[in-house]
Amino acid sequence: MAHKRNTAAMHQSPRCGAQTRNGTPCQAPAVSGRKRCRMHGGAKGSGAPKGNQNALKHGRYTREHVSTKRAVRRQRLETRARLAELKDLRKQKDKDRS
Ligand SMILES: [Zn+2]
Repeated sequence: MAHKRNTAAMHQSPRCGAQTRNGTPCQAPAVSGRKRCRMHGGAKGSGAPKGNQNALKHGRYTREHVSTKRAVRRQRLETRARLAELKDLRKQKDKDRS
């Protein structure tokens, strides 16, 4: 049975796309500014906090650690190259002496 009032605007609102137990999308109205309904993670206070420290397990991939690793790697390669240069110089010197 049709509603007495115009409910078109209400039905135009964004819908929750969460998968239900029978595999179809939830389709309940999404909480404003979010993509999910109040029962599927759209509720106030749900989701990870900003700058979530709970998501950090070991820090191996933090921006800081990655840039440190790159700097160390660069230094190591430079050192290796410099050592090879010195070795070549030494070889050359020994050759000149004999
Ligand atoms: Zn939902």
